[in-house]
Amino acid sequence: MCGIVGYIGPQTASPLIVSGLKRLEYRGYDSAGVCIVDGDSLTIHKQAGKVADLERVVDLSAIRGTLGVGHTRWATHGLPNDVNAHPHTDNDDAIAMVHNGIIENYLTIKKKLENAGYTFRSETDSEVLAVFIGMLYKTIGDLERAVQTALQEVEGTFGIVVVSTHDPNLMIAARRGSPLILGVGQDEFVVASDAAAIIAHTRQVVYLQENEMATITRQGFTTKTIANEATHSVVEEIAFELEEIEKGGFEHFMLKEIYEQPVTFHDGFRGRLRVDEGNVRLGGLSKVQDRLRSAQRIIITACGTSWHAALVGEYLIENLARIPVEVEYASEFRYRNPIIYPNDIVIAISQSGETADTLAAIREAKMKGATVLGMVNVVGSSIARETDAGVYLHAGPEIGVASTKAFTSQLCILTQFALFLGRMRDLPAEAGRTLAQGIAEIPDKIRQILDQSDAIKEIAMTFAQAPNVLYLGRGYQFPVALEGALKLKEISYIHAEGYPAAEMKHGPIALIDENMPVVFIATKDEIYDKVISNIEEVRARRGRVIAIASEGDTQIDRVADHVIRIPETQAMLAPILASIPLQLLAYYIAVERGCNVDMPRNLAKSVTVE
Ligand code: GLU
Repeated sequence: MCGIVGYIGPQTASPLIVSGLKRLEYRGYDSAGVCIVDGDSLTIHKQAGKVADLERVVDLSAIRGTLGVGHTRWATHGLPNDVNAHPHTDNDDAIAMVHNGIIENYLTIKKKLENAGYTFRSETDSEVLAVFIGMLYKTIGDLERAVQTALQEVEGTFGIVVVSTHDPNLMIAARRGSPLILGVGQDEFVVASDAAAIIAHTRQVVYLQENEMATITRQGFTTKTIANEATHSVVEEIAFELEEIEKGGFEHFMLKEIYEQPVTFHDGFRGRLRVDEGNVRLGGLSKVQDRLRSAQRIIITACGTSWHAALVGEYLIENLARIPVEVEYASEFRYRNPIIYPNDIVIAISQSGETADTLAAIREAKMKGATVLGMVNVVGSSIARETDAGVYLHAGPEIGVASTKAFTSQLCILTQFALFLGRMRDLPAEAGRTLAQGIAEIPDKIRQILDQSDAIKEIAMTFAQAPNVLYLGRGYQFPVALEGALKLKEISYIHAEGYPAAEMKHGPIALIDENMPVVFIATKDEIYDKVISNIEEVRARRGRVIAIASEGDTQIDRVADHVIRIPETQAMLAPILASIPLQLLAYYIAVERGCNVDMPRNLAKSVTVE
């Protein structure tokens, strides 16, 4: 959450910071601000709204100075207004800081500072840290040590970058619980919360470690822990291309990412799937293979869309590998003293690999002795580094705040993982081959669904103004109903609920009348007839039915007002295909309602706060 960019080098910092912030805006967009150090003056411009709004009122490119920081905020403490926007300064306006995260003991520190005569302009927790650093600087006289001392006292999470007029050749960055990456260029350095802001300048990066800080000058940088132990930093290469984080002719990142799915899904099994053997090679899991073989139970922990993917994973693994699976919201798991046995495998699923609750959940699981695996998209992210082993999604950068391609890639990985586990146990080769063949055919089938997008758009228009929508599915399609409803809520602000279709009778059926659109995922499988009965129940109460059905199903036309057909596949793979039209429905409805699809209200990509 929140975008941070800091620059030190020979170039004018402001335009560089602004273009970096724009690339990070999907991480938070309540407000934007920059601070440039030029000699002994700090120039700060900040306000509520997007980076483009700030650019409209100030010519940011005209600010001179080759050292600076910028921020796009996702408010946790205090309204998203001009005063609360970052950067924040100390009381002398000599030190400026941008912050991602939450200072949990900010009230205690604030009280101490107020007693000593310090004052505050904003309601943020972040300003307290900036003022605290300023106070410590007065006695210590060294910015690096002042920052370090302050951070030793701070509780909570932070990614911070600090600059000051005390030394216009110095930038300090530090992290705990929020990602920070240091781009190492030719005599220049860019610090950012996401590699997307760095790649235009350099591909060489150092991922700051948990509790690590970097002291960066125009000549070079040094790192150490906040507790003052030496650290050894490794320069790595960014794993994606600049084009991957651009819109490539699409109106929105979300639409581009929906259309990328034939390729991203394929990238998820390329080099892994062995159709002939009916098996999968997952190189990232080789060192835990024995532990997987003896696993008694699997716990999957995740948040949001990843949690929905995990539910599909539960059905897949239990079915194919006959290992009991529990799916846990990471935010609940971490705080409820979960029971973990030594033979348990805990899997964390997260697009960004930085989700604060998921990260905390795996730390809890590790502490209790479980083998912890990661299924993440962002290479080198915290979860990728802190797990014992894992499998990357290989979906490429996902910028749209509402996850689309990462979800189908998660399903791609989970299906292969279940197949892999199944084949290690009792799943016969023939059953493995059938599933593997089915996986290999998915990209083409996704293409066929995307080809119908005009028809899907037309159906979307019929309920674009509905105040509520219900999504119902059973079996493998139940999590898809949850995900379809979440997509619609996230980007169109229509209230939507996902439910197991049969469970509808125990509550949601009370909501059904002629104004209630109900999206049924009614693909052909063992429980198809039961779903048809549930559709009849909705029709009997005059609900409007939109059905996602299998190609060749003629029975569905009798009961549904609108039908979107998807190619036939095995029931285990049907969630992947069914989620594509639901993404398109949500997208077209949100566009029709004039919503900002890529930056929906109150949301942000990569939830790095609790
Ligand atoms: N807690 C800080 C604030 O509310 C930082 C928010 C962020 O990460 O953008 O300003």
